[in-house]
Amino acid sequence: MDCRSEDIIYMDNNATTRIAPEVVDAMMPFLTDCYGNPSSMHTFGGQIGREIEKARESVASLIGAEPEEIIFTSCGTESDSTAILSGMQTYPEKRHVITTRVEHPAVKNLCESLDLFFSGRKHRITRLPVNEQGILDLEQYQQALTEDTTIASVMWANNETGVIFPVEEMARMARERDILFHTDAVQAVGKIPINLKEMEVDFLSISGHKLHAPKGVGVLYVRKGTPFIPFLNGGHQEYGKRGGTENVASIVGLGRACALAESMLEEENTRVRNLRDKLEKGLLGAIPKSMLNGHQTARLPNTSNISFEYVEGEAILLHMNQHNICASSGSACTSGSLEPSHVLRAMGVPFTAAHGSIRFSLSVYNTEKEVDFVIKTIPNIIANLRQMSPFWDPEG
Ligand code: PLP
Repeated sequence: MDCRSEDIIYMDNNATTRIAPEVVDAMMPFLTDCYGNPSSMHTFGGQIGREIEKARESVASLIGAEPEEIIFTSCGTESDSTAILSGMQTYPEKRHVITTRVEHPAVKNLCESLDLFFSGRKHRITRLPVNEQGILDLEQYQQALTEDTTIASVMWANNETGVIFPVEEMARMARERDILFHTDAVQAVGKIPINLKEMEVDFLSISGHKLHAPKGVGVLYVRKGTPFIPFLNGGHQEYGKRGGTENVASIVGLGRACALAESMLEEENTRVRNLRDKLEKGLLGAIPKSMLNGHQTARLPNTSNISFEYVEGEAILLHMNQHNICASSGSACTSGSLEPSHVLRAMGVPFTAAHGSIRFSLSVYNTEKEVDFVIKTIPNIIANLRQMSPFWDPEG
């Protein structure tokens, strides 16, 4: 199969990222010659176990954790499920979970299915609202923390808008009441600095494919001292916290990707942020009735979610596709349905605008030339689509 990725302007990095060439190089020996099982007693296997430990150190370094606090999983979704289900099993007498209305389906749908998961138990779920900029109200959060609360699961940064939540403060407030705190940091890790040493977070989820490592590998951080019950029981792998022979090549790749991300954090927060700002300013300035969804500053440096009123996001994407520009309408996981995204609905984005929203998500591989091309191309696409829309009033 020929994907011709060199012709593509890829601005869909919150859906997935390209594997960094350095990561591919690091992985290759483990897909070819170095195939031993890290649990084996022979030197051939033992050597591979040491590479896994090096990868664990790189992941820990990126988020300010200890290597023993890192558990490799198969994806961000597994990490989210493991954290929340562990909490619910550890304290079976407590039945209350706090989350938000804008979580990724990995957390949202799990919370919705807790009654099915633990049959015979009835759970109470508080889904915290957000304001029109996608921001949470900390007072409402504080009031929701009760004696009955097992765990609060609040994403670090939103996958659709990039809005960042005050997880440090929220984790502290949960700890003060002996409540577990989990954060889905799948979109945040590698894009903004994270130092868990200074925080009271119990569980944190990472997904490899969002930071230039392969799909199918993730991490769950479990704070030292936090009670933990494994989701996958089996062998003694991962300190007995996650059974199953390790996905060695991907784990090594993730370790390399974390080291790269650490060295590129500065670039992500300067050059990539500037590119994103240029793109945003260019589009909002050139296109009437367009608006930013999400807080202006409390936001990931790579993400811009823009609504173009009176046009359909899917139609915009199809036209962008003809120019080889890749982005998303809503989140990658919810596209395919014509319902406006639950995130934009929670923010109260008007129907006419929510339907025409596009998420641009950049990475260190994007260039200024690409941004200039997108700024030049999209205004014509929107203008042409609006001409066909019965709702569009050019005088309005
Ligand atoms: N959480 C967030 C915020 C995400 O954006 C995603 C993927 O889009 C996930 C969880 C799921 O990660 P994975 O695809 O590794 O299961």
